[in-house]
Amino acid sequence: MKLVVRILLVLLAVLAVLLVLAAVRALLLKAEPARAPRQPSRTPAELEQLGQDFARMIQVETLSRNSGEDLSQFQRLHAVMKELFPLCAQQLEQIDLGDALLYHWQGRDASKLPILLMGHQDVVPVNPQGWRVPPFGGEIHEGSIYGRGTSDDKCAIFCEMRAVENLLKQGFVPPCDVWLAYSINEETSGHGAPHAVQWFREHGIERFAMTWDEGGAIVENVMPGVDRPFAMVGIAEKGYVNVKITARGAGGHSSAPPRQTTVTRLAAFMTEFNRKQPLERKMIPEVRQMLENLATCCGFGMRLVLGNLWLFQPLLLKVLPGAVPQAGALLGTTCAFTMMHGSEAPNVIPGEAYVIANLRTGFTQDAAASVAVLKQYAAKYDLDCEVPEAREATPISHTDSAVFRYLKQCIAERYPDCGVTPYLTTGGTDARSYADMTDACIRWYPFRLSGKELGAMHADNESIRLTSLSDGADFYQYFLEHYVPED
Ligand SMILES: [Zn+2]
Repeated sequence: MKLVVRILLVLLAVLAVLLVLAAVRALLLKAEPARAPRQPSRTPAELEQLGQDFARMIQVETLSRNSGEDLSQFQRLHAVMKELFPLCAQQLEQIDLGDALLYHWQGRDASKLPILLMGHQDVVPVNPQGWRVPPFGGEIHEGSIYGRGTSDDKCAIFCEMRAVENLLKQGFVPPCDVWLAYSINEETSGHGAPHAVQWFREHGIERFAMTWDEGGAIVENVMPGVDRPFAMVGIAEKGYVNVKITARGAGGHSSAPPRQTTVTRLAAFMTEFNRKQPLERKMIPEVRQMLENLATCCGFGMRLVLGNLWLFQPLLLKVLPGAVPQAGALLGTTCAFTMMHGSEAPNVIPGEAYVIANLRTGFTQDAAASVAVLKQYAAKYDLDCEVPEAREATPISHTDSAVFRYLKQCIAERYPDCGVTPYLTTGGTDARSYADMTDACIRWYPFRLSGKELGAMHADNESIRLTSLSDGADFYQYFLEHYVPED
């Protein structure tokens, strides 16, 4: 008995020491107090004008298209861009590949690696019932401009071109070549970006100092407890796999059903898979870094946990996916069951039924390994798996590069009230096509977005604040104006 008490006391003492260590570390971790945001650079009237100009791009219904289809909306958009940015139209070389539009701005030194700014002209469809304003109206209400494409992703094209236009007006010549690339089918994973990559290669452009696309933003309220907005700079993106899981068996009349049918087998499989969550969860160094960066700007409780991953990592791996799904998605492959199909009539048991599992593969368990886990569970229920679509996660860009450091400096200069952290993009972007052409494949745009604005992407009432748009345009301009290429 005495021995048990002693062991308990020792364990309690160890626990107390660990907690004291964690608490001390948490106290030491605090970031410098946030600085004040910059003063607005535009008057209310100038902001309104900026919004009116941007509205013209929103008013063109550029739903995703492939080359060979009717591209008249994209031609309309190009005409609008020509009017909005006349100097770009006159002074930059334009290459219209059909499914991507490229601009080439010649720099002072063609021997330096060029940089590439990206965006996509296409938008996803709308469900007009859910909108309070016309989805392609570009209406301005209470300081925000509304419409499909305002935050995904015409804001990037508008502000990049506006930055270039302003610099051309000043007679500025960039130190290296600058390219702009705008595809017309990012939203449908079309050929725009791969086609542009192919064109660059055919024209002897194999490497960029950086490629800069959407995929992260300046996120307000990124996690409960984080006391400032954070520039979440995407440095890689997860893979994308669809698996079709099919049950085959005796179909027939539903009036005398057997205990198990194709549908109940699928349901049992999904229930077990979902309950056990058998896909690997790991915290790769980049995610660790992100959580530690966020921790420095949290209250004590969150700092205690996120700032002491040496102690709390196993706990976080367990609870994070349930508590904050967005953060949980960074810990490995996720699996969502999305589409199901059974019989064609309510009184028919299907002889064949299927469900689609959409996997977003992580960085430690690739597509084949993730699918293998799914197959193992499917086999228990005598289900067949096919993989109609699979692409792997991209390589991860290093954050110790000169480009990344420069980007961080620019963020500190233009957004002094914000934190910066690398992060992994969970959705797909055009950037993945360029992943092996650069060491700095950046997926982040310089716009402040609230949780509500983020939630409206691909949903109803998509919008962006005019102040965000204005700061974003200034950011691109500042970045280009002060960029010094590496030797
Ligand atoms: Zn987008």
